[in-house]
Amino acid sequence: MKANVVQCSMFNVQRNMYDVQGNLREVLSRLPQGVRLVAISKYHPNEYIEAAYAEGQRTFGESHEQELRQKHETLPKDIEWHFIGHLQTNKVKYIAPYVTMIEAVDSLKLLREIDKQAAKNDRVIDVLLELHIAEEETKYGLTPDALRELMAGGEWRQLQHVRICGLMMMASYVDDEEQIRSEFRLAHSLFDEIKEHYFADAPYFCERSWGMSHDYEIAVEEGSTMVRIGTTIFGPRVY
Ligand SMILES: *Cc1c(COP(=O)(O)O)cnc(C)c1O
Repeated sequence: MKANVVQCSMFNVQRNMYDVQGNLREVLSRLPQGVRLVAISKYHPNEYIEAAYAEGQRTFGESHEQELRQKHETLPKDIEWHFIGHLQTNKVKYIAPYVTMIEAVDSLKLLREIDKQAAKNDRVIDVLLELHIAEEETKYGLTPDALRELMAGGEWRQLQHVRICGLMMMASYVDDEEQIRSEFRLAHSLFDEIKEHYFADAPYFCERSWGMSHDYEIAVEEGSTMVRIGTTIFGPRVY
């Protein structure tokens, strides 16, 4: 990655301006047809997003409501924003008017709130259900059994303003490629199971969002339809 130093106003710090456009082209060249790129721009300034935008990228992912709000207000309106972080129910109302997809839904409570806020905005919001398979301890994401329970419960069927479009997950952050691969495979088999039971006639249930900077090539081999890549395009985040 080429780097040259620029001053970035948003964070008011000196940092390396990565060759965003070159990195983006490189990543895109490695994605087979049918796999979409969500460029994860969290903690990166507008300049970086504009560079990717100029290269044709339109889908970006953010994980904090306030940061997303600022970027949404100041950047081109044809950007499709995916919310990829843990979303508190009291924040849903702020992003409901414009967010394209909420990727990490892991409770019925959150699903209900998204439905309510989407209804207020007279729209339907696309969501993914977040699976927790990785070995890391985290409170976020549905275990396979919790996912099955949520689906079997059936209340989601009444939520007319959310559309469940598939599953999202993060693999363990490890070097062991076989472990990563087996987690993607498990996620894929759960996708197939849910698809067959509940969405066999719903073409919109088709997204498997897995793969980040360090594992997206494995993810693509294991059937990802949507990769979420930040560092490889924009360089390291400055927190
Ligand atoms: C930050 C983040 C990413 C991108 O991670 P990189 O390693 O920078 O590619 C992808 N998915 C989620 C949920 C994230 O929070």
